[in-house]
Amino acid sequence: MTNKMVPMQDLVRGLLGAIGEDPEREGLQDTPRRVEKSLRFLTSGYDTDIDKLINNALFAVEYSEMVIVRDIDFYSLCEHHLLPFFGKCHVAYLPNRRVIGLSKLPRLVDVFARRLQVQERLTSQIAETIQEKVDPIGVAVVMEATHLCMAMRGVEKQNSVTVTSSMLGVFREDARTRHEFLELIRHRAGARTGRQVHDSGVGCDAE
Ligand SMILES: [Zn+2]
Repeated sequence: MTNKMVPMQDLVRGLLGAIGEDPEREGLQDTPRRVEKSLRFLTSGYDTDIDKLINNALFAVEYSEMVIVRDIDFYSLCEHHLLPFFGKCHVAYLPNRRVIGLSKLPRLVDVFARRLQVQERLTSQIAETIQEKVDPIGVAVVMEATHLCMAMRGVEKQNSVTVTSSMLGVFREDARTRHEFLELIRHRAGARTGRQVHDSGVGCDAE
């Protein structure tokens, strides 16, 4: 345990006191340590070196068809309430003689999800990073998420799903390419019947 880890536990103890709890009661005695450990993991994306993560996984290829990784699970924390939002991320790109190892895409999603986020920024950071590092003809990222700050409090829309997208290059410019991508992810994306999907571009209400 490093020195800088001590203050966070003190802060959690203070927080427990502030909500009217007794931080010394048995069930809570170890809570500050657990909260710190969990928060450090959930925000570990700040410390990840993206070049290091990607480094050995860029390959020269002649393949020029769309690469899609669908249904990548992600978990993040909204920066307005420090409450989780989570769901599925769909990533596609059109290679320009270069591809990235497929396992790197979920890891890239994690790097940006494990920070304090708003869904819109998370979505564009993933797309822009792939554009920058892989230099494809275009990138598309769609994220569908449930925000606990909406489900548990505030507007209490328990079943709403927030959808955000970031389209770069050919996915932005060419409707057919974009449509092909959206069709390929739609089978899953729209399949969760009974769920209300809103595409407002608003991650969570910052109330
Ligand atoms: Zn929120």
